[in-house]
Amino acid sequence: MRYTILGRLQFITILAVLALPFATLLIRPAHAEVNFSSLVIDDNKPNAQPYEGASFPDVNRSINSLGDSFMDSLNSGRTTSNVDCRLENCIALTFDDGPNQLYTPQVLDILKQYQAYGSFFIIGNRISAHPELVRRAYREGHDIGNHTWSHPMLDKLTPEQINNEYVSTQEAMVRAGVPASNMFRPPYGIRTAASLSTIPMPQMLWNVDPRDWNEKSVDSLVQHVLQESHRGSVVVMHDTSTVTTEALKRIIPELQKNYKLVTLSDMFDLEPGDRGLYYGLQ
Ligand SMILES: [Zn+2]
Repeated sequence: MRYTILGRLQFITILAVLALPFATLLIRPAHAEVNFSSLVIDDNKPNAQPYEGASFPDVNRSINSLGDSFMDSLNSGRTTSNVDCRLENCIALTFDDGPNQLYTPQVLDILKQYQAYGSFFIIGNRISAHPELVRRAYREGHDIGNHTWSHPMLDKLTPEQINNEYVSTQEAMVRAGVPASNMFRPPYGIRTAASLSTIPMPQMLWNVDPRDWNEKSVDSLVQHVLQESHRGSVVVMHDTSTVTTEALKRIIPELQKNYKLVTLSDMFDLEPGDRGLYYGLQ
C-alpha cells in the first residue's frame, strides 16, 4: 500500500514537470509583444521601426476599385489638415471603434466647429450599418483607418484569419464609398510577426492613452490629455462615449492654442507602400 502511494506521488511529480512548459504558455500576458530591439531604425521616419515582411498580394490594388472619376468627385472640395509637421507643432487625435451612430457625428461636429482634423480607425463589421458616417468623415478631410473586421486579439489568430480581418474591412470601406485605407491599427495594440507580415501597411500605434473608454470623469480625461500631449503626440480615444465627446469640446480649443490638430497621414507624411510601426513624431 505504501509503495502504491509513493508510486502515485512519483507519477504526479513527473506529470507536473512535463506540464511546466505548457503552464508558462497559459500565464503569458495577453498583450505580449514581439521584441523589435534587433530591428534597424529608419532615419527618415524616426518613429517607424521597419520590419522585413513576407511576400503578400497587393490587396489594395485589387480591391480599391472605386475608379478615377468616382475618386475625383469624392475628393473634389475635400480639404484635409495639409500641415508640414516638420515645421509646425502637430498633435494627432485618433478615434477608434466606430462608426458609432450616436457619437461619431458628435465628434465630427466638434472637429468641424474648430476646423480640426483627426483619424478614425473603424471596425469593419460596423461599417454597413453607418456607411454615411464613414463617407462624411472622409469627405471632411479625416483619415479613415482599418481597425480589423471584428476587433480580435491578433495573437490568437492564424495568418489566414488575420488576412480576412484586414481584407474584409478594406472591402467594406470601398462598398461604403470611400477609398480602401492606407493605415492599420491593431486592436489593443497587439501585433505579432504574423500580423506584421500579413498586413501590408503601416501600423499606427500611439503615445498618449488616456483610457477614455474606462473614464467616468470629463475633468480627468481633459486633464490627462492636456498634461501628456506635446509636439508629435498621437492620442488614442474612442468615438463611443459622452465623456469623450464632452471632453473633446474642451481639449480641442485648448490644444489649438499651441498645436495644429492633424491627420496621421499629415503627421507622418505617409506614402503609398510605407510600412512600419508609428507611435508619434519626435
Ligand atoms: Zn479598438
